[in-house]
Amino acid sequence: MKFSEVIGHEDLKDGLRRAVTEGRVSHALMFAGDTGCGSLAMALAYVQYLNCTNRRDGDSCGECASCRKIQTLEHPDLHIVMPVNKKNKKAEEVVLSDHFMPQWREIVGRTGGYFTEQEWYEAIGLDNQQGNISVGDIGEMMRKLSFKSFEAEYKAVIIWLPEKMKAEPANAMLKILEEPWDKTLFVLVSQSPEVLLPTIISRTQPYRIGGVDERSLAAKLMSEGIAGDKAVQLARMSGGNLIEARRLAEGEESAGEYFELFVELMRLSYNNRHLELIGWAERVAKMGREPQKYFLENSVRLLRNSYMLHAGMTEICHLWGAELEFCRKFSPFIGNDNIEKLVYEMECALAQVRQNGNANIIFTHFALTVSKLINPK
Ligand SMILES: [Zn+2]
Repeated sequence: MKFSEVIGHEDLKDGLRRAVTEGRVSHALMFAGDTGCGSLAMALAYVQYLNCTNRRDGDSCGECASCRKIQTLEHPDLHIVMPVNKKNKKAEEVVLSDHFMPQWREIVGRTGGYFTEQEWYEAIGLDNQQGNISVGDIGEMMRKLSFKSFEAEYKAVIIWLPEKMKAEPANAMLKILEEPWDKTLFVLVSQSPEVLLPTIISRTQPYRIGGVDERSLAAKLMSEGIAGDKAVQLARMSGGNLIEARRLAEGEESAGEYFELFVELMRLSYNNRHLELIGWAERVAKMGREPQKYFLENSVRLLRNSYMLHAGMTEICHLWGAELEFCRKFSPFIGNDNIEKLVYEMECALAQVRQNGNANIIFTHFALTVSKLINPK
């Protein structure tokens, strides 16, 4: 991965480039921040830059033998340690990061290093189980580092999520960081540095990877086909997190039909059209439980945002496009008198849907109650 493929963080890239040029390469670094903000991508780009034999324009070349092998994660001097586990593991079975390199290459190649911990566990077949970094993995890393480097100037180890080490491997890791290592680089990529041993942190040069700046992230989203103003909104709402921004964008797409149902419910309620409200309820009752739950959750979101518009808190209102337009007009009907009662009705309906109640009864009662709360006349 090249620096140019890491979204934003230009100041940090500058700092890292300077450290390399001036020969101040620290033997242990920590990139602390969410993978959705680029912490892992930055670690991969840095290792590639450091070992590139033909650096140019402040970046690795992407073409020399070293770059090519680091890009495909096949460089013999680059070792990766990440939390792993196996379903139905036998007590004596040793599970090492190395066993999962094919899945690691696939997910990094596909996402450019922007994926969540949960996505990783799914990729290695753990459903609700978590991974961890075992003392065996730290031992294996030591064994590999004891060889002379094969071809690179720097041997490098990237430890993704070091917070997944329990006490024994964490202490082993601490001992390793305490020793001076010639031409060996440790890069810790942590999402929760606060749970690491303070002594580990103090032996690394820490870099904080915060949210990607709005402009860079919006540009990335636009390159994926999201319209300009929406891309800027998503960049802001996601706190500079690419994964979160994409998730929000997907939610918005499927929210369209639920939004229409919400608009219809509110219009009929405002106009006291009881007969049509019953027809509305019959249609929703036929939708199936999952869409019904989504509709109700989405309606709570729209209501809360309408209330914020009503209260003048526009800066924390997370709406745009058609949603914003409707909720702005609708917001005078939402206020202190009814917001909590409306949300309560939606949550009751949600609970009843979850409990597999009779959908016709649930939504008929729901539609008529909402109507009374919106237009009490
Ligand atoms: Zn290169």
